[in-house]
This record gives sequence, C-alpha cells and structure tokens, in this order.
Amino acid sequence: MGTTEVGQTQYRQGMYKVVMDQFERAADVMGLDASVREILSRTNSEIVVHFPVRMDDGSIEVFTGYRVQHNNALGPYKGGLRYHPTVDIESARALAIWMTWKTALAGLPYGGGKGGVQIDPKRYSRVELERITRRFTYALGDNIGPDLDIPAPDVNTNSQIMAWIADTYCSTKPANTRSSNMHVVTGKPTGSGGLDGRDRATGFGVVVTLKAWAQRRNADLKGMRYIVQGFGNVGYWTAHFLAREGAVLVAVQDASGTLYKAEGIDPEALHAHVETNAASVAGFKGAAPMPAEEFFGLDCDIVVPAALGNQITATNAGSIKAKVVAEGANGPTDTEGEAILHRNHVEIIPDILCNSGGVIGSYIEWLLNRRMEHGRIDEVLRMIEDKITTAFTQVAHTAAEFDTDWRTSAYIVALRRLESAYKERGIFP
Ligand code: GLU
Repeated sequence: MGTTEVGQTQYRQGMYKVVMDQFERAADVMGLDASVREILSRTNSEIVVHFPVRMDDGSIEVFTGYRVQHNNALGPYKGGLRYHPTVDIESARALAIWMTWKTALAGLPYGGGKGGVQIDPKRYSRVELERITRRFTYALGDNIGPDLDIPAPDVNTNSQIMAWIADTYCSTKPANTRSSNMHVVTGKPTGSGGLDGRDRATGFGVVVTLKAWAQRRNADLKGMRYIVQGFGNVGYWTAHFLAREGAVLVAVQDASGTLYKAEGIDPEALHAHVETNAASVAGFKGAAPMPAEEFFGLDCDIVVPAALGNQITATNAGSIKAKVVAEGANGPTDTEGEAILHRNHVEIIPDILCNSGGVIGSYIEWLLNRRMEHGRIDEVLRMIEDKITTAFTQVAHTAAEFDTDWRTSAYIVALRRLESAYKERGIFP
C-alpha cells in the first residue's frame, strides 16, 4: 500500500500507517458502519505546545510537547506520555489511536490519548527534567484533567514524572480541589495516590496473555525459551513474571547492545545492572554480546518486543523462528512484518491485548483515587488478570466467528463497543 492522503492533511507513514492499515482491515472484515468508520479515522484534537525552560547553566531551551486526543466516546481520554527523540505529532497520533482500541477492548470507561516531549531525557539533569515536566504540564493547562484526559507513564517516563505533573496541575487549581484532582494522572508514586503494583502491571499482563496462549495450545511455559527487546519497565517485569513460570530468557536487546546466554539470563541480576548503568543492558557480565541483527532470528519459542514501534519488519520477520510474538510494546510489528509472520504461522498476541495490563492498573488507581481508597497488590493483580483473561477469551471467540487473526478480532471486539455507543447516542445536535 502506498501513501494515502487522509483527513488530517498528513501522509500516512511510520506507526500511523500501521495503525490505520490495521483499523481498515478490521473495519472491512466486520463491516463497520460507514459513519463510525469516518469518525474513528480522525482524531478529536491534537495539541502541540512550545514552552521555554531554564537549564542548569542559566540558558533557556524551548521544547515541543504533544497531546493527541483520538476519541472519547467511551470515557475520558487515557494514555501515556513519553519522553523520546521520536515523539512527534504522527507518532503521538498513532499511539493515541491504539489507546482507544486498547481501552475499549479491556472494557474500560476510557477513550484514547497519547503524547510526550521530543527529548532524549538522558541529556538532562533531574532538576531540568522536573522543570521540563512542570512547564509542559502548565502548557497543557486545562487540556488534561481527571475527567477529561488522564496521562500516565510510557517510554522514559515514570512515577516521579507523574508526581510532578499531579503536583503542578493541582497547584494551579483552587486549594480545596487538590485531593479531588490527584487522579489527573495515573502511575503515581504510592505516597501520592499511586497504586501498589502499577509498576509491574504491564509486564504482569503480558505474562497473563502468554499463559492464556499456552493453555490454548496445550503447552507449558515451563522450559520455553524467550527473548526480550527492551529492558525497561515492561521488559523487566515480563521477564520477572516469566521466570516464575519457569521460562528461560536467552537473549535481550536494547539501544545499548544485544546479549545472549543459552543457559538463561537472570532477569533480577540484569535488572540490578540496568538500574545502576544508565538504564542500559550493555556491560552486563551475566551474558555475552552478540550481533544486533541476529537477535530476532534466534532459536526460541517466544519473542517479546517491549521497546519501540516498527521493530519487526520485512527485514527481520522472515527470520523469526518463535511460535509466538507477544507485543509488550505498542506497534512493534509493521504491516509487512505482520504479513510475513502470518505466512510463516507465527502467532501474534496483539499489543492492544498483550500490554493492556498497564492501563487496567491505571484504571484501578484512578477509581481508588476517586473514592479516596487504597488497594492491595494481590487484589490489583487479580483484577488485571480477570480483565485480560476475559478480553483474551472474547478475542479468541471473535477470531473464530470471523475466521480471522487475533489482531483483527481484537479490533473487532473494540470497534463493536464503539459502534454501539455511537448508535445508541447518535450525533449532537
Ligand atoms: N503507557 C501505557 C500504554 O501504552 C499505559 C497508559 C495508561 O495507563 O494510561 O498502555
């Protein structure tokens, strides 16, 4: 498929092309209502802000931040903020659209949003990052809010950054609304309304989907060999919970390097290394370096991309020997890569199902904040498991109903919910 001009006066490329290819395939297969299709193929609003920040040396740097709000038919916009050089309007748009499908599939009362700042956070000091975050929040102003648009952590953002956002947002509102505004963001530290267990929610959910997959295949995760791309929050916690199932991590890759050990890498030792080595796997003594381009073709059962988008492409998809790709990242497989995986009978647990544990954890945090209550980690993980298992079963049934792949059926489950919301309510005025 070549580039096509769409309503947003943008050409489709990168992740935006991928998400629209996926949407159109599902809309065709299910026969989505034409008006709903038209509505959902555009974003509701796209906010771009430029804001100045004082650096440690006294100079001023001007940053660009984004927040794209795709759709709020099912509830407030929900989705992360990432700090990365690849953040731009096109990637924010694609990621916002994925959030709409993800929250609808999980049955959450949310829509989809995403954004971030185009920076390499490694280049800034902690206090600079705090000032960048606070000025970004101030620039977003009333475009976010606990019942309007609720950001959360994503690539290179964490609970500390969420705490700064919550504090800045609440500080610009009347003092008597402070406690009723803390849920303007989720993924906060536990001392500031955060949820015990939100940090591990995405990785935990990835493993829930892999357990469901193994069960359907009458297989056991015990002894299965897997590789992980990205060892941030999602990659690490996935490895942590897969170790409990007895699966063996044979290779890991991030921007700093690719490491291999046939007998298995210890996820906890690797995590300890990453924590003290600028978030990089390079230099870890418990595994040997290997060529980056051979990573996806390694002999293993499970591939977990848990880094950035468009990593499994026509260049490497044909080399994948694993039985399943569990998409911990958002949009890790592009359209051509996916066609090759299908041809080779490699199954895909699609991102909007596979990594939905994170936003389900966010929903629990947001609900508890509204009720001024605290949650228990075992209850939180049980709720995440329940919701993901339900969604997985719906995806499997719908795949059988339409004789289609899991990604398309996950879209159909989500799109049916959105379609009925529009049909019930009609369009104002
Ligand atoms: N950034 C995560 C995602 O892509 C979580 C979003 C959220 O909790 O709102 O799903």
